[in-house]
Amino acid sequence: MTSAPTTRRSVTVRVPAKVNLELNVGPRRPDGYHEVSTVYMAVGLHDEVTVVPSDDWSVLVSGPYADRVPRDETNLALRAARALARQVGVDDRVSVLIHKEIPVAGGMAGGSADAAGALLACDHLWGLGLPRDDLLEMAGDLGSDIPFVLAGGIAVGSGRGERLAPVLARGTYHWVLAVSPTGLSTPAVYAECDRLRAAAGGAAVPAPEPTTAMMTALRSGDVEALGAALSNDLSEAALSLSPGLGEVLVAGLEYGAVGGLISGSGPTVAFLTDSPEAALDLCVSLTASGVAGEVRRAKGPVHGAQVVPGPSARG
Ligand code: ATP
Repeated sequence: MTSAPTTRRSVTVRVPAKVNLELNVGPRRPDGYHEVSTVYMAVGLHDEVTVVPSDDWSVLVSGPYADRVPRDETNLALRAARALARQVGVDDRVSVLIHKEIPVAGGMAGGSADAAGALLACDHLWGLGLPRDDLLEMAGDLGSDIPFVLAGGIAVGSGRGERLAPVLARGTYHWVLAVSPTGLSTPAVYAECDRLRAAAGGAAVPAPEPTTAMMTALRSGDVEALGAALSNDLSEAALSLSPGLGEVLVAGLEYGAVGGLISGSGPTVAFLTDSPEAALDLCVSLTASGVAGEVRRAKGPVHGAQVVPGPSARG
């Protein structure tokens, strides 16, 4: 192992959350994962991940959701930094500082975002300059959503979600996100999906693929068509584990959203609106109704993980 030519004292990366506009869940694979076809959109809720050279590996977390993030070796950002060091043969260690704005266990890829941030930040800190494809491949080995939050924008994910393909898309979309105070575990939601499918007779599940309705909506930039095309095969399972989400969905649609769905494995409910003003109105109505825990607004698509230039404000 060698010491990397450290060029900076610390590096901060800003990394977005995601919403799944469509999540088609295929059969369970022999490795336990499900084959999926999903359309991801990166949205403007960001975590910041700062890496600082240190004598030992450690994690510090700040921000509204900090108390729900592990600070031990199970932290996904720390795991990503250690995996990168191992893979490239660097024996330097870092402290990982996470400023957490993405809900935890919310179906918005918060942990994946921090892992993506740590990979890119360490790549810069250690002066590695790894090709983008190498970083994406390493990201995919670490977790299904990590390549997408590195890449950002809008993309189709296949395999476990880690194999990305570009999508022809136009427009900026205004989202309202109803965040639950308690999270849902992604493996538990997939297990519930399997249970519900078996209980319904266990018919063979077809190989998942992107729908024409979604691709056409994105290509045209038509917000109404996109609202109508939103879909998630995990909805039923998430609703079964967290029935209160049904009330949130109904309320958002009644208050004027052009579409709404549970993001990924939930429990965040994402509502699409047709303007920034409509998003603000929906935010106010949902908050006043008291059905949703916390309500946030975000625009999408946004860039993937990016190094923040200059010294970090939080570093
Ligand atoms: P996805 O949308 O990718 O399925 P999620 O947004 O539902 O994921 P995460 O926020 O990634 O869920 O959190 C899942 C679990 O991962 C948490 O319960 C937490 O214990 C663990 N975890 C490990 N590292 C982190 C991290 N840096 N940030 C958030 N959670 C983390």
